[in-house]
Amino acid sequence: MACIRWQYPDPDSWSAIAAHMAQRKDPGLDVVSVVREILTRVRAEGDAALADCTARFDCPGFTTAMLKVPTASLAAALATDDATFQADMDIIKEAAANIRAYHQAQVQQSWWRPHADGSITGQLVRPVDRVGLYVPGGQGGETPLISSLLMNAIPAQVAGVAEIAVVSPPRKDGTLNPYILATAALLGIEEVYATGSAWAVAALAYGTQSIRPVDVIAGPGNLYVATAKQLLIGEIGIDMIAGPSEICIIAEDIPGRDLTRRAAWLAADMLSQAEHDALAAAVCISPSAALLDAVRAELERQCQALPRHEIATRCLKDFGALVQVPDLDTAAELSNRFAPEHLELAVADPWALLGKIRHAGAIFLGDHTPEPVGDYFAGPNHVLPTLGTARFASALGVDNFCKKSSVIATSPAFLQAHGDKIARFARLEGLEAHARAVECRNKDQAS
Ligand code: NAD
Repeated sequence: MACIRWQYPDPDSWSAIAAHMAQRKDPGLDVVSVVREILTRVRAEGDAALADCTARFDCPGFTTAMLKVPTASLAAALATDDATFQADMDIIKEAAANIRAYHQAQVQQSWWRPHADGSITGQLVRPVDRVGLYVPGGQGGETPLISSLLMNAIPAQVAGVAEIAVVSPPRKDGTLNPYILATAALLGIEEVYATGSAWAVAALAYGTQSIRPVDVIAGPGNLYVATAKQLLIGEIGIDMIAGPSEICIIAEDIPGRDLTRRAAWLAADMLSQAEHDALAAAVCISPSAALLDAVRAELERQCQALPRHEIATRCLKDFGALVQVPDLDTAAELSNRFAPEHLELAVADPWALLGKIRHAGAIFLGDHTPEPVGDYFAGPNHVLPTLGTARFASALGVDNFCKKSSVIATSPAFLQAHGDKIARFARLEGLEAHARAVECRNKDQAS
C-alpha cells in the first residue's frame, strides 16, 4: 500500500511536510457562489425555498407541510418495540450520560469582585437563548450521525440553552432516520425539521415561516453546510468550521511489549480516521524504524478488509504518513507543528510526554485509549479543531453556547477618587463627552 515515508531529523524538515499537508485545505471545489445564491433565496422565499431545494436534492415531492417532524413521531421512535433498537438506545443513553457528566465539569460560574470603596466588578455568564443544530444526513440516512446530535445538543443543554432546534436532511421518503428521532426524544428536544444542506443553515440563521431564527448554529456537515456557516458568521455565532478528520500518533517500541501486536493497534487507529474521508490525515511518528515498518504492514493487511477500504486507501496514499524522528522530544515538536485534531501517545510514559504537547484537539494516552473511545463514549466532545487550528481553537463545549457580560457598579467614592484620571484619559483620545459624563457626576456630588 502506498503510504508516505518521511524522515524528520530536525525542524528544518517541516516546510516540505507542511506544503504537502496544506493540499488538504483546498479540495478545489468552488461552492461559495452556489451557497450565496441559496442563502439569498431562503432569505427571500422562506419555507417555499426549503421545500423546493429538499424536493430537488433529497426527497421528490417534498412539501412545506413535511418540514416539521411531529413531536409524536419523536416519542413514537423512542418507544419502538424492537429489542435490538432498544439495546442500541441503551448504549446511546450510557454515552449521553458520560458526555453530560464531562460537560457539567466545564460550566463556568458568574463571578464578582467587591472593592474597598464599595464598587463591584464582575462577569455574568449566560446561555444564548436559542441554538440550531445541524445533524448530517449520513449517506441518505443509512448511517445516521447519532453521536453528532449527542455531542452538540448536550453541551448546549448543560449551558442552559432554553430552545434547541435540530435540522437534518430527510431520506427519500421524507422521514428522518429513527435513531435520530429517538435520540432527539431521549434528549427532550421537540423541534426537529426534515431539511438539510445550506438551505437548512440559512433557515436557522434568517428564520422562515416554520423555523424561528437561532443565535448559534453548531454541528458538522458537508462542504455546502460548512460554507453556509462560514458565510453567516456575524449574523449568528457558529461552533467552528470542521475540516477533514486527522489523527497523529506518537509511538515508541516499548521493551517487553509485543511490537507486532501494538503495530496492529496503531494501524487500526490510523484507519479509524482514514475511513472518514479521502482528505483525512493519518500520521504515525516514531523513533523506531522497526515499529513504522510493522505499522505499514498492518495498514496493508487491515485496510483491504474494511467496508470503506476505497476511501481509506485514497486517504493513506495522499495523506497517510509514517515519520521517523531521532527521539520523542522531536516527535512532540513535530506533532505540535501539525496541531492535530486527535493525538495518541502510544509510549511507555505518556503522562511525561503530555507535558511537551502544546497543540492538539484531543489527546489519548497510552496503548489502551484508541481514538474512537473519544468519538462516542468517554465523555469529551468529538467536535474538534482540524487543519492546524488546534493552535488557537478548542473542542466544542459548554462555552460555545454561553456568552459573558462584564458587570460594573462603581460607587460615588470610586468616581471621586478616579474621575479626574478617567476624564484626562478621555481627553487624550479627543472624546470630550466621555470626560463630561464623569465630571458632571462628581460636580453634582460636590454641590
Ligand atoms: P450532510 O447533511 O452534510 O450533506 C447532505 C446534504 O447536502 C443533503 O441535503 C444533500 O442533498 C446536500 N447536497 C448534496 N449535493 C449538494 C449540492 N450540489 N448542492 C447543495 N447541497 C447538496 O450529510 P453527509 O452527506 O453525510 O455529509 C456529512 C459531512 O460531514 C461529511 O463531509 C463528513 O466528513 C462531515 N463530518 C464531519 C465531522 C467533523 O467533526 N469534522 C463529523 C461528522 C461529519
